[in-house]
Amino acid sequence: MESTVRVRFAPSPTGGLHIGGVRTILFNYLFAKQNNGKFILRIEDTDQTRFVKGAEDYIYSCLDWCGIKADESTRAGGDYGPYRQSERKSIYRQYAEQLVKSGYAYYAFDTSDELECKRQVTENFRYDQNTRQTLRNSLNIPHEAAENLIKEGAPHVIRIKMPKDEQIHFTDMIRGDVSFSSNDVDDKVLLKADGMPTYHLAVVVDDYLMKITHAFRGEEWLPSAPIHILLWRYLGWAADMPQWAHLPLILKPNGNGKLSKRDGEKFGFPVYPINWIDPASRKKADGFLEVGFLPEGFINMLAMLGWNDGTEQEIFSMDDLIAKFSMERIHKGGAKFDYEKAKWYNQEWIKISSAKRLLSPVKDALNNAHIQDFSDNQLLSVIDLVKERCVLLTDFVEQGSFFFKAPDKYDTNSVKPKWNDDKEEFFKAFADELKSGEFLDSASLETNFKDLATKKGLKVGDAMLPFRIMLVGGKFGPQVFDIAHQIGKDETINRINQALEAFEKYK
Ligand code: GLU
Repeated sequence: MESTVRVRFAPSPTGGLHIGGVRTILFNYLFAKQNNGKFILRIEDTDQTRFVKGAEDYIYSCLDWCGIKADESTRAGGDYGPYRQSERKSIYRQYAEQLVKSGYAYYAFDTSDELECKRQVTENFRYDQNTRQTLRNSLNIPHEAAENLIKEGAPHVIRIKMPKDEQIHFTDMIRGDVSFSSNDVDDKVLLKADGMPTYHLAVVVDDYLMKITHAFRGEEWLPSAPIHILLWRYLGWAADMPQWAHLPLILKPNGNGKLSKRDGEKFGFPVYPINWIDPASRKKADGFLEVGFLPEGFINMLAMLGWNDGTEQEIFSMDDLIAKFSMERIHKGGAKFDYEKAKWYNQEWIKISSAKRLLSPVKDALNNAHIQDFSDNQLLSVIDLVKERCVLLTDFVEQGSFFFKAPDKYDTNSVKPKWNDDKEEFFKAFADELKSGEFLDSASLETNFKDLATKKGLKVGDAMLPFRIMLVGGKFGPQVFDIAHQIGKDETINRINQALEAFEKYK
């Protein structure tokens, strides 16, 4: 059955989307899907001075990568559009005027220079219930004069008239009863001189017109809540007000304050879902996608930042999350970001994902490292052989590339000290045996190798390490006979011969 739940994520396109924003998207989305409701993406671009080109497209790319689709948005459309606030400019003034008429807001004619002067004279100057009597606004000048100024086109803004000595209460789904004193809040601008609404007016009007039932957003918006609560009331919409939830912050790894956009560079891990290139500075910030995260790992990690299902379970697919997510289990306190733990989630997801699922992202990782010479079938087998050893998708480059490319250098220190004629002779004989014999499976290769070593009076262990170095170049990779079997008879023989030549100088 179609439910009435309608939630929204309402980003301002002012830059790259930090992982805190993606977690807000995720919690909105999970709640919507769980309740058969709708997830709406609304672009809040009323502050044109902070508009950053490309930021909106970036938000969509992040959603795509995460596998989250908005039911209504600037791209998907919907019955409550437009979904970009700059295209809704004509809607807002009437509500600001309505507030003026009912005495909850007023026109203010002060120029920016006048206000700047006030700021110079009074430290921490605020336009509020204590100062508004001394300023140029429709509360202090005769009604007619104010009307005339407006008619003449005098530049003006509309400000909310914050009440005196009022406790503004609301219930937050995470924090319970929250209350603010109206005296602590200044008379915020609702409609700017250019006719654009500010965030405060637009967010309330649009949440109302778009029939939003639950408004989930980051804790940094909590101080704005009293203004919004009053606007809902003053506009006569209190009965339709959404339920609020202010999500706890994602904290720096040391717990000292909010994880900021700049922390990625500082701590050496990504804080953006995908690479973000600032259009002005051309500076690139790393994304989880590009460092080698699977979206499944990324989503799982994000969900666990500030939430758990009350059991020991840590691995959740999107479907599990939709089934198990609950607002009640979101923690009140901030969640420390732990990059090692984030990588652990990714590693677990690499382990449990099928080779088929991993094929495309691993192919991308290898192609980015200029390794292209393989078929899908070859890569599928390689993925199965090495995925247990990979934490990030980019690890497939080191762990997988030698299957498709003979080593161009060898870990000399592992071979040189013990290289001698006996070993050389053993490998020549082994290559000959391979040439004439059958190349069935890795188990029979291993038996043949061991039998020959014993016959030649070599310790099997002493022959295994050079064999690995011959095939791989270094001391890593899966079982060495699995590698030989995977690369095939001819390539195994080639690599032995190529290495024997290179090792010649070790003797
Ligand atoms: N436009 C605000 C932002 O950039 C929306 C905050 C809210 O959800 O009310 O996050």
